[in-house]
Amino acid sequence: MGYKELEIRVPVQFSEDEIKKHIRKISKLTDFNFQILRKSLDARNKKHICWQYRVGVSSDELKHGAEPVFEFIEIPHKNSKHKVVIVGSGPAGIFAGLLLAEAGIKVTIIERGSKVAKRRHSIEHFERTQDFDPKNNYAFGEGGAGTFSDGKLTSRTKGISKERNYIYHCFVEAGAPSEIVYMTHPHLGSDNLFSITSNLRAKFEALGGTFLFDTLVQNITIQDNKVVKVLTSKGDLDADFVVFATGHSATETFRMLISKGVPFQTKNFAIGMRAEHHQELINNAQWGVSRLPGVKAAEYRLTASIDQQPFYSFCMCPGGIVVPATAYANSNIVNGMSLYRRNGRFANAAVVAGINLNALLGREISVSEAIDWLEKLEQGFFTVSENFNAPSIKIADFMLGKTTQSFPESSYPFSLNSFDPASLLPKQVISTMKQGLNQFTNKLFGYEQGILIGLESKTSSPVQAIRDKEKLNSKFQNLYIAGEASGWAGGIISSAADGLKVAFALLNKI
Ligand SMILES: Cc1cc2nc3c(=O)[nH]c(=O)nc-3n(C[C@H](O)[C@H](O)[C@H](O)COP(=O)(O)OP(=O)(O)OC[C@H]3O[C@@H](n4cnc5c(N)ncnc54)[C@H](O)[C@@H]3O)c2cc1C
Repeated sequence: MGYKELEIRVPVQFSEDEIKKHIRKISKLTDFNFQILRKSLDARNKKHICWQYRVGVSSDELKHGAEPVFEFIEIPHKNSKHKVVIVGSGPAGIFAGLLLAEAGIKVTIIERGSKVAKRRHSIEHFERTQDFDPKNNYAFGEGGAGTFSDGKLTSRTKGISKERNYIYHCFVEAGAPSEIVYMTHPHLGSDNLFSITSNLRAKFEALGGTFLFDTLVQNITIQDNKVVKVLTSKGDLDADFVVFATGHSATETFRMLISKGVPFQTKNFAIGMRAEHHQELINNAQWGVSRLPGVKAAEYRLTASIDQQPFYSFCMCPGGIVVPATAYANSNIVNGMSLYRRNGRFANAAVVAGINLNALLGREISVSEAIDWLEKLEQGFFTVSENFNAPSIKIADFMLGKTTQSFPESSYPFSLNSFDPASLLPKQVISTMKQGLNQFTNKLFGYEQGILIGLESKTSSPVQAIRDKEKLNSKFQNLYIAGEASGWAGGIISSAADGLKVAFALLNKI
């Protein structure tokens, strides 16, 4: 049996059912098996936009070549009575939990919010009434921040291919479309994420794991350089190992950890707003046509550099909606999500400027000050209307230094309120955004026709846990900070992969 890989370019309307015929035609093989290894859209030439496939073909008619071996994590089995408590059920928490449970460890995941069905109900109620639920919102609740998202699975983190294969395997097993393993820009869609999240929970419980929902971790007890108890809103739990996978919205949890001497440092992060356009405008700019049968909706990723200050688009949601993503009642931030079909009328993306707070404020600041600074900014956006209507401005008006008189239609569930971004965002950020958006307008035709909505402050955390490079624990022998809370990961895949790495580090100690 031999093996070879082929590159295939086919029109966008091409049906995947015909791929075997196509391989037969170009390879001249009669009897073979094949596997799609990669699928990406090539839109460089707008007149000939096509799908580009890489396929692996195995056949007795081929004399050479061997199938590639996919790297996969190996989970050791431990016979141990150790109790592991994981705080947070987002990608980092659930994947750490799954791996430890598969290794035979007794794991409890504590989640401040409710199961995904109840969480969904709370969010729908919030979007009808502005009645905010501090336990169940776009940041908190089962599945973490990624549950109500676009579910984009792209990650630029290097050295996580084994972890990524395991994560994809678990997602597909939990009901994700199998194409995620080969698409260059895979995404799950929020609609798929609801069932994937509960199926991952079912797998974890079937492996012997325990979930405690509606339970807030408020404190920890430390004795002899070890965490011995986790104190929750529903009582105390003994623990041999504790993993905080609490994301980067839980400011009171950061403050509690800092007060216990868990070491953090400040780091660069980014702030800005979310740009929204009609999807047709983006399709026209990227493809030269408003619709392309066989492709869902056009994406974009733009970057600009202004006096060495990075400015870039982030977390683009084609056919998506802008959502009120605050974790706390008195602050106002936005984010983006979409359904699997990506068939909404709008496209949105964060447009953010990188910042170094020390440089911005002209002095060395502490981790607590960094958290306070960001929280104050998020609260500032709430004070514009004292509710969750989003402070907004048209991009063209922003670039001309004018405020907006009236807004076009938007996907945001509440009203857009006109404001002057310069009244809340630092001068340097305003200047970077203006110049950067100008560059975006030259790169993507019609970009200035969009709207800038709300504050985008959650692209990455302003603080980072100081962890032992090998053992990954943070100061105390048995304490781990994983995923986005650690500041070493951001996004669904890198947070899940960090959860797995932390779980392996923990297993090494058992
Ligand atoms: C609307 C939206 C869209 C997004 N879209 C994408 C996308 O398309 N692709 C992508 O890669 N990333 C996306 N992200 C970012 C992504 O969701 C996060 O990077 C990822 O979820 C981080 O995973 P995590 O497990 O580290 O933390 P989180 O997912 O934030 O999970 C932390 C969990 O801990 C719980 N918790 C916090 N404090 C406590 C406590 N004290 N006690 C008990 N429980 C606690 C929270 O309720 C939460 O469930 C999006 C985020 C949002 C908000």
